[in-house]
Amino acid sequence: MTLVLRNGRDRAGQPISLTLRDGIIADLAPTPEADGLDLAGRLVLPGLIDAHVHLDKTFLGLGWMPHVDGATVAARVDAEKRLRRSSGWNVAEQGDALLRRLCAAGTTTVRTHVDIDEMVGLDNLHAVVALRERWADRITMQIVAFPQSGIMHCPGMPELLDAALREGANIVGGLDPFGFDGDVRGHLDVVFGLAERHHAPIDIHLHDGGAIGLEQLREIAARTRALGMAGKVVVSHAFALGEPESNDLAVTIAALAEAGVSIVTSIPGDHVFPSIARMAEAGVNLALGSDNVRDAWSPMSIVSMPERAMLAAYRSGYRRDDHLTQCLDLALRGGAQALGLTPPELVPGAPADLLVFDAPNVPAVVVERARPDLVVRAGAVLR
Ligand SMILES: [Zn+2]
Repeated sequence: MTLVLRNGRDRAGQPISLTLRDGIIADLAPTPEADGLDLAGRLVLPGLIDAHVHLDKTFLGLGWMPHVDGATVAARVDAEKRLRRSSGWNVAEQGDALLRRLCAAGTTTVRTHVDIDEMVGLDNLHAVVALRERWADRITMQIVAFPQSGIMHCPGMPELLDAALREGANIVGGLDPFGFDGDVRGHLDVVFGLAERHHAPIDIHLHDGGAIGLEQLREIAARTRALGMAGKVVVSHAFALGEPESNDLAVTIAALAEAGVSIVTSIPGDHVFPSIARMAEAGVNLALGSDNVRDAWSPMSIVSMPERAMLAAYRSGYRRDDHLTQCLDLALRGGAQALGLTPPELVPGAPADLLVFDAPNVPAVVVERARPDLVVRAGAVLR
């Protein structure tokens, strides 16, 4: 199938026309005889990447669920389990509702974390693997086997994670090796051991702040280097990197850059987060994720990467065009690097995952939290 997009504009403001064929950008010129759409000068960007979202946690489709407070990660995990038991949980339906929103917002690639614990076993994983198959024509999905209830105190968790990696998960997850599991070495031995055995990347949720947070980041960087896993390890949140400048912080950031560890942030509303400027200056790759969407952790429902980029700019005090552009790039180049994908560019041979915005440029997409007029996935128009 051939589709021609005529008379668009690229991020540099230059006129662009594209011929899309067999799922890729075949040519940066219109094929005269093929069917085409006139973009009337609108902005064309590659599809956006959400590097951290939980398809199996969302309440979307269940009606309104009032938020239940919890002071610690452990308290929140318990509250979530109670809510799941009492609500007629259906990952297939709720995940589907979230995917519809992601797709409409112009996200064409997601990395989703799926809970693996003693209560759900691999049930959520099987449901999300089925979603990945059902949505394969509309969204690229990577699945993290995520030990939401920890590893060291849950009997059989290493075996369950191992099974998850054999049954459809692509990536090994981890959770606060110190703050949740109280055993940094034991936790990371399991995570890095599974990664080595399955040749799988790693994605660890790390909420721990202060010296212990930084120490764990350095340990993750050291193990990444020792195993030659540059570009294959991601730490999500890494709140400790947003704390005031110190020698410890500088050493940690340098270690992450050298090891090729990526950081993913959701731009939390009530917490410090890694400084975009500081990460860029040190050469640490930073990506954006929605994380919690209408779930037990947060009632907010921000799935749009332009909106997330606006929050990044807003919380960073960014106003300049280059800074606003840098924020959306966290969901383009930053996301691609974190997920081990080629940089999303409008070049021949690249996947034909494209968005068309009624906006003059990238900074305008960010400040207006723009929704794409057109979402093209693998050369086909989705909306
Ligand atoms: Zn998360």
